[in-house]
Amino acid sequence: VQLDMEGALTARDRVGIQDFVLLDETTEAAVISNLKKRFSKDLIYTYIGTLLVSINPYKELDIYNKKQMDIYMGVNFFELPPHYALADNAYHTMLTEFNNHFILISGESGAGKTEASKKILQYYAVSCPSTTLLNTVRDKMLMSNPVLEAFGNAKTLKNDNSSRFGKYMDIQFDSQGDAVGGHILNYLLEKSRVAHQNHGERNFHIFYQLVEGGSDKLLQQLGLERDCQHYNYLTQGECAIVSSINDKNDWKSVKNALQVINFDEENTSHLFGVVASVLHLGNVRFDTDGKGHALLNDKTELNWVANLLGVDANKLLEGLTFRKIETKSEQVLSPFTIDHAIYVRDAMAKAIYGQTFTWLVNRINETIENKDSSRKTVIGLLDIYGFEVFYVNFEQFCINYCNEKLQQLFIQLTLKAEQEEYEAEGIEWEPVQFFNNKIICDLVEEKHRGIISILLQDEECLRPGDATDLTFLERLEEKMGNHPHFVHKLADKMIRKTLERGDFRLLHYAGEVTYCVVFLDKNNDLLYRNIKDVATQFKSSLLKLTEMLMAKEAWYIRCLKSNESKQQHFDEALIRHQVKYLGLMEHLRVRRAGFAYRRKYEDFLKYKPLCPATWPHWRGLPADGVELLAQHLGYLPDEYKMGTKIFIRHPRTLYATEDAYEK
Ligand code: ATP
Ligand code: MG
Repeated sequence: VQLDMEGALTARDRVGIQDFVLLDETTEAAVISNLKKRFSKDLIYTYIGTLLVSINPYKELDIYNKKQMDIYMGVNFFELPPHYALADNAYHTMLTEFNNHFILISGESGAGKTEASKKILQYYAVSCPSTTLLNTVRDKMLMSNPVLEAFGNAKTLKNDNSSRFGKYMDIQFDSQGDAVGGHILNYLLEKSRVAHQNHGERNFHIFYQLVEGGSDKLLQQLGLERDCQHYNYLTQGECAIVSSINDKNDWKSVKNALQVINFDEENTSHLFGVVASVLHLGNVRFDTDGKGHALLNDKTELNWVANLLGVDANKLLEGLTFRKIETKSEQVLSPFTIDHAIYVRDAMAKAIYGQTFTWLVNRINETIENKDSSRKTVIGLLDIYGFEVFYVNFEQFCINYCNEKLQQLFIQLTLKAEQEEYEAEGIEWEPVQFFNNKIICDLVEEKHRGIISILLQDEECLRPGDATDLTFLERLEEKMGNHPHFVHKLADKMIRKTLERGDFRLLHYAGEVTYCVVFLDKNNDLLYRNIKDVATQFKSSLLKLTEMLMAKEAWYIRCLKSNESKQQHFDEALIRHQVKYLGLMEHLRVRRAGFAYRRKYEDFLKYKPLCPATWPHWRGLPADGVELLAQHLGYLPDEYKMGTKIFIRHPRTLYATEDAYEK
């Protein structure tokens, strides 16, 4: 199917243009208007060169079927509307060049990242060549999704199926292009959700699925009532039942998926036992003994927890209501206040759930792992929780930091690297200005001076009894006072008014977020230690992730959220905001002024049969040969440049050559 340029031009007014690079003008207004036109025709994908922009339609489109997938197998990038083309091109480049790739899917919460990543996985699983034997591995990879979503996703105000963990999945291919295995890395599950949900939000899906969908017999075995309202941990958001979510049906899918990924009876009942134990734990209610100490009159729920987890009920009770202080000669038990006991109970629930999630990911990895040692290439899919401005907890700080890092990776690999390459190659170039968010990443992670460092250093200066969350804030203010992306309460009167005591505000690349340092209540050393370990681990795992990604060839999908109300509506202001902070305009300018395609001279010389008069008699330097070829093929001087390789402005130039060569 050849793209008929004239046809495309007349269609432009009707359905917009499918590559922003070909727009007449590169103004923001032109970009938004093109997006809007396409959105109104259900054309939710548009290119900027090889980058794919997608916009959440909030309705099911009939474009993800096998027939559609087949059309895309092995076609050139611009021959069909953008859609599966990016997935297919990454795949074919991987096969021809035997290298590793990754697809970075970004956008704010509810923009459609997880849906996009599922569509891509389906494309590889369904369309790539296969032998029957391997189908089982593919099924397992596909079925890992509903299971991980049940345990790691939740309804939030922004998204009814919001990912509350970061996920990186490598899909491994053998040299034939068969998808033969995979591996999942998970990042920082938002465990605080287990014990606390904001108004209008839910806990992780699995809890409701179990209570709503589990058989009578199962609920009886687990000591559960078929009533979400009965559980403390399920009712804080006051929206246990949501019309858009069918927990009963989802329960069936999850059960079925668990079977496909090889969970036997024993594993499954262990898994649901743990889930139920968390619900029971949340219902453990403490009483007080008159001196303000916590004690437990009714031990029913506690006994269920002990029973389901296979631990001793007395030990459990001791852990929940006493602090153990070890001196040189003896152990002393010091009783907790009710508040402290509740804190410990919740911390325990979060820890149990968090570890279960990690265990689940490990189990899934065992079943999708490919054990044969033949050489494989991978395509990695990165779907991480989106940037949010709503929450103020520590996990949210990490989530936003993570998004900041990924934006930095994008800038480094596209805007920065691309322009530096032109410069290094001596190609005439008018630099495109862009906002580099490195300054914000540094603010968070810089050695000795960044927020995380200050958080870690702080402990050394601690004296017992310090109101240390505020000490931390003071130290932040002292160090960051003049930083353009850090706002604190001493800054200026107007801002001070809107900041509470104990708040600080970061101006992230995607918007302002106010964080509350109460998350650093260091009188509570368990919580404090926990946060520090998270912060340290998270920083190093992000570092590892970016290093790993840098070694692969990158493809990008930028997801845009069409509106805040989950409706089929194009909210122009909201879209303009995202186009801005995602750097799409800068990307477009670089792409448009630049050369989308580049080939090594040696590789380009494969087209020499197209020039039979000159070859095979010609002997000379590859660069000279390429110049001859380009002239023979009728490339216009403005269409290509010669550096250490040939740079070609428009993909269609290269594809015309490729097509002629294949004929
Ligand atoms: P988060 O960061 O919160 O995880 P997300 O970017 O992963 O957000 P998704 O869960 O992928 O967002 O999408 C949110 C919802 O939007 C989906 O549950 C679905 O209803 C709708 N949606 C997203 N993409 C599509 C699509 N391509 N077709 C139809 N509906 C979509
Ligand atoms: Mg998601």
